[in-house]
Amino acid sequence: MLRIAEQALEAIQKHAESGYPLEICGFLVGSASDDTRDAREAWPVRNAWEEDPEQRAQLVAGLEAAGGASADRWESADTERRFLVSPADTVAMMKRARQEGMDLIGLYHTHPNHPAIPSDFDRDAAWPDWSYLIVSVREGKVAEERSWVLEEEERQFQEEAITLYGGPVGQ
Ligand SMILES: [Zn+2]
Repeated sequence: MLRIAEQALEAIQKHAESGYPLEICGFLVGSASDDTRDAREAWPVRNAWEEDPEQRAQLVAGLEAAGGASADRWESADTERRFLVSPADTVAMMKRARQEGMDLIGLYHTHPNHPAIPSDFDRDAAWPDWSYLIVSVREGKVAEERSWVLEEEERQFQEEAITLYGGPVGQ
């Protein structure tokens, strides 16, 4: 289950709508225990796919080497369906989280004009035990939010419930 603070969810929704029609992303920051991840804050991070061609080439090559989607497939995919977070940005955010007594517990990103269902690319780049919150944005407005966790053995996403501190998130 993903439990998320109301301000964090509102920040994600604002980020999602202001970034439209591009795909935006960020970290969920808080704490995790067993099957529950508590997202106290949401920290935007640049989408390396859009903003850093060199990182992008490296990341794609790395994912391909690890048995993920081929570079050709990445390059030919719909531009609205790709996001990548660079390892350097991840390490920097991880350090900042530790300094504030928290951990990175997941990632959020948008699917402009697509449902909040993970793509093959999302799966190839995903870590186990993190929450992947996907926000579908249609015509500049948030349409739905769904959260997913990667099952390590099958490497398939399993949907998880999203709860606000204080009550469930309406669909
Ligand atoms: Zn995605």
